[in-house]
Amino acid sequence: MEYSRLGKSGLQISRLSFGSWLTFGKQIGDTTAEDLMKIAYDGGINFFDNAEAYAGGKSEEVMGEALKKMEWRRDSYIVSSKVFFGADGGKGGLMPTQKGLSRKHVVEACHQALKRLQVDYLDLYFCHRPDKQTPIEETVWSMHNLIQQGLALYWGTSEWSAQEIMEAHRVADQYNLIGPTMEQPQYNMLVRDKVEVEYSQIYKTVGLGTTIWSPLASGILSGKYNDGFPEGTRLGIEGMEWLKDRTLAEENLNRVKKVSELANELGVSMPLLAIAWCLKNEDVSTVILGASKTGQLEENLKAFDVLPQLTDEVMEKIDALLENRPERPPF
Ligand code: NDP
Repeated sequence: MEYSRLGKSGLQISRLSFGSWLTFGKQIGDTTAEDLMKIAYDGGINFFDNAEAYAGGKSEEVMGEALKKMEWRRDSYIVSSKVFFGADGGKGGLMPTQKGLSRKHVVEACHQALKRLQVDYLDLYFCHRPDKQTPIEETVWSMHNLIQQGLALYWGTSEWSAQEIMEAHRVADQYNLIGPTMEQPQYNMLVRDKVEVEYSQIYKTVGLGTTIWSPLASGILSGKYNDGFPEGTRLGIEGMEWLKDRTLAEENLNRVKKVSELANELGVSMPLLAIAWCLKNEDVSTVILGASKTGQLEENLKAFDVLPQLTDEVMEKIDALLENRPERPPF
C-alpha cells in the first residue's frame, strides 16, 4: 500500500480506501461487511468512508460493529461520516431540521454518527453537498467548533464547486477558523471535469486533498455490463433505476467496451486498469473502493501492480479511446 498526505494536512491516508455506500446495511450481509473491512485493513487500507445517509444510518451501525469486533487500535485507521442528506432510518421522511448544513443538524448529525460508529471522534467529517439554505459562515463555524471539541479532526466537502470551497476558505481566513482540508468528488474514466480542470488551481493554492468516489462508476468500468446485464449487481437493485439509467447510457458503454479491448491487449483486468488510472492522477489523495463481494476487493487491491503499465503512451491511448479528456487551462 502507498500512503499520501491528505492535501496540505499531515494526515497520512492510504491511496486506496474503502467505502460502504449501497453495500453495508443494504446489499450485503453484516458478515460479508466484516470480511471486507478485514481484507481492506490487512491490505494496508487505513481509511473507511461512511455517511449518515447510507442505508438510513444502518451502514454506520454495521461499520461500527465491525470496528468494535476487529479491535484495531483506534490510532491506526481513519473513519469518516458525512452530513447533509439526513439519516431517515426508514421511519418515513425527515423533518426540515434533520438535514442540511445548519449548526443544529451538523452538530446533531455528528453526535449521531459517533454513536452509530461507536467511536469517540470522526477523523474526517464531510459536508455531503453544499446547502444553499445555510450561510456558509454558520457551517464553517460549526465544523471548526466540532474540531475544537475533539469530535472531528479534519473537515471537508463533497461535490462542492471550486468557488464554494474557496468561499469556505475565505470565511475561515476571515475569522481565523480551520478551513476544509479535503473534497470528495466523483472521479473515474467517465467523469473527469471537476478533478482534472475545476479544482486544478486549488490543489496549489489551498492545498486541496481529494478522496475520490466511484472509481468504477458503480461497476460499469469493470466491463461486466459489456455483454448484457448480469444478475445480482448494484445496477439491478430495486429503487436504483435512476443510477442504472444514468450509468448504463450508451456513450458510457461504448467507451468502456473500447477501453476493455485495450485492457485485454495489455493483459490486465478492466477493473484494475480503471482503478490504476485513477491512482495515476497525483491530485487524487485516495481512491475509495466499493465492493459487494470479497473477491472483488481482493482483486481491486492489486491495482498498484498495473501502475507501471500506465506509461504516457498508454495514457494517451486511453484518452484517444475515451474521447472525453476535458480542456485544461493553459497553465
Ligand atoms: P465503484 O464505482 O468502484 O463501485 C463499486 C461497485 O462496483 C461494487 O459494490 C460492485 O458492485 C462493483 N465492483 C467492484 N469491484 C468489482 C470488480 N472487481 N469486478 C466487478 N464488479 C466490481 O465505487 P462506489 O460507487 O461503491 O464508491 C466507493 C465509495 O465512495 C462508496 O462506498 C462511498 O464511500 C463513496 N461515495 C461517495 C459519494 C459522495 O457523494 N460523496 C457518492 C458515492 C460513493 P456490484 O457487485 O453490486 O455490481
